[in-house]
Amino acid sequence: MTELIYAAIPAFILFMIVELLVGRYRGVRGYEKKDTAASLTMGVVNVGIGVGVDVLLVLALAGLYRFRIVDLPEGAWWVWLLAFFVFDFLFYWMHRFHHTVRVLWAAHVNHHSSERFNLSTALRQSWTEPLTALPFWLPMALLGFTPAQVLTVHALSLIYQFFVHTELVQRLGPLEWVFNTPSHHRVHHASDVEYLDRNYAGTLIIWDRLFGTFEQERHRPTYGLTTNIGTFNPLRIAFHEWAAVLGDAWRAPGLSAKLGTLFQPPGWRPGDDSGTVRVLQAKLREQAGAPVVGPPPAEGMRSACDAEVAAVRLDRRALHLATTDTPLDVSTLDVSTLECAASDGATSDGGTSDGGTSDGGTLSAGARSSDALSTGARSGEGEPGTGPSVPIVSSPPVVSTTVGV
Ligand SMILES: [Zn+2]
Ligand SMILES: [Zn+2]
Repeated sequence: MTELIYAAIPAFILFMIVELLVGRYRGVRGYEKKDTAASLTMGVVNVGIGVGVDVLLVLALAGLYRFRIVDLPEGAWWVWLLAFFVFDFLFYWMHRFHHTVRVLWAAHVNHHSSERFNLSTALRQSWTEPLTALPFWLPMALLGFTPAQVLTVHALSLIYQFFVHTELVQRLGPLEWVFNTPSHHRVHHASDVEYLDRNYAGTLIIWDRLFGTFEQERHRPTYGLTTNIGTFNPLRIAFHEWAAVLGDAWRAPGLSAKLGTLFQPPGWRPGDDSGTVRVLQAKLREQAGAPVVGPPPAEGMRSACDAEVAAVRLDRRALHLATTDTPLDVSTLDVSTLECAASDGATSDGGTSDGGTSDGGTLSAGARSSDALSTGARSGEGEPGTGPSVPIVSSPPVVSTTVGV
């Protein structure tokens, strides 16, 4: 596996340079030196660790392969295709468990710790996840796939996933239905409540659509963690959540609370699950569906975008009131990230906000606000906050299709 990754490194560097230059040409700066340096350091160490873990993985796979329940023709093309599908399915579940079990989240969190989103973010790889992910690949040996096949499809999956970490590529038409795309993966890297724990896909997005974790990109995501760690120190990036979860487990009273701290989702506390993604999103759905008393829509709305802005203002006020008693002036809320704001009040572009409902039983279109909620999910701590003050209808056009600012 490592050899394939090595071979791809020149292409990785080339594409990062292209992304950097195109971003500059468009007048925005998606890369930040310290952030990129931290991501690259994480990636280099990860590759080194990967060599050792590959040895362990091959030994484990070879041992289990002797007990395979199916004999597959090793060289047949369809076996490779099957290996790709089975690996991608297992990757989905590996990734999902790494978001929903806190001790696994401790291994995965650093991939989400950048507040930027560009190709270098793809290389911000964990130093511990190669080990915690290893057990998820073992069923492939029992299903009759050779260690070489497992390692090869694993490497190809990682190479594919490098290319979905960009803001330069927008929607890709029908491909969006089948493949994990930059649009889908931007959602995965968001800290907005409605986007948390969505789009776990490796190469195929079909697993998220099948298992109810798909979410469409409806506005420009806020990248990073719900409580950002504010450091570029690779050691802290790699181990901060390990220290947090093990410390919390140590201090938790009794065996049950200790086990819960380790194996419940991020945001969970003994006797309190209000900080978990599941509860936060349920609250968001509830608030979005509840009747909200607020200012009436502006008279003579010029467009669907005006209506969308008004709906978001009401939603945000409801969310704010659900989490705090302090009053909130909705006229100061930031809705500049709405796609329709880019057209300065014109009707929403169907390509970027198509459909009013989410797939897989996720949030309704109205429940898109999250900056009134700063949550304990993912990071395990947080505090209420509100978005920056930007006038709504008079917002300047926002070009949300370029590299991050
Ligand atoms: Zn993830
Ligand atoms: Zn990613």
